[in-house]
Amino acid sequence: MRVVSVKSVRKTYKRGKIVAIDDVTFDVEKQDIAVFVGPDGSGKSTLFKIVSGVLEFDSGDVRVLGVNLKEKGTEALGDRIAFMPQGLGLNLYHRLTVEENIDFFAELHQMPEDLKERRKELLLKTTGLFPFKNRVASKLSGGMMQKLAICCSLIHTPELIILDEPTMGIDPVSRFELWKLLFNFVREEGITVLISTSYLDEAEKGTKLFLLKSGKIISSTTPEKLINSDMPVYEVRGKDIEK
Ligand code: ADP
Ligand code: MG
Repeated sequence: MRVVSVKSVRKTYKRGKIVAIDDVTFDVEKQDIAVFVGPDGSGKSTLFKIVSGVLEFDSGDVRVLGVNLKEKGTEALGDRIAFMPQGLGLNLYHRLTVEENIDFFAELHQMPEDLKERRKELLLKTTGLFPFKNRVASKLSGGMMQKLAICCSLIHTPELIILDEPTMGIDPVSRFELWKLLFNFVREEGITVLISTSYLDEAEKGTKLFLLKSGKIISSTTPEKLINSDMPVYEVRGKDIEK
């Protein structure tokens, strides 16, 4: 089943002076983990905001879970998607505890009490945050904060989760655990993931890989093919990623 279908999308800022997304086309199927890799300014956040429906675009077509975003708007998607914007703990309430943050998101989505409690326990245990459920968010490490943010995004069982650089600036062990968590949810609940990163080692972890540069997809491939053909990797690694 096709979950995301983006066709010839263009997005400019400043009345057309900045082209952030330039003729981008791609498809993502159910249970894909689609990884978008690109240097700063390549358009990752813009693209994710468009697919999440929080940003309008100039031209092209975007279909998410069968809903045409231009025709129907995001209301038609309801709770079926979750978007975690770029930035450490940006969507969290730092003065609330781990548990209170999750409760807050559950309330936003008007979840029934018993379902909420079951789901919260599952998420807290899977992420290893259970022993820390009474800790205030501001006292969490970066890795724990991102895990909590993912719990908050997943509490209402979305079908698609869009994560904008969730592993940015967090330690390697937490990065590893975060990926494990995603694999788990893809396998157990059949969710689909769009994730961006500027770490090339993470490019190899998904089922689909898109390299973004100056608002264009310069390569779309599978991680295995990428590893076996060094051309696009070295181009991106040398010129952009470490810039
Ligand atoms: P990335 O997430 O890959 O760093 P962005 O989507 O944030 O890329 O940015 C893509 C391009 O659009 C950059 O040139 C950036 O400066 C520009 N841009 C992003 N947001 C805005 C904005 N709100 N106003 C003007 N230009 C923007
Ligand atoms: Mg960004």
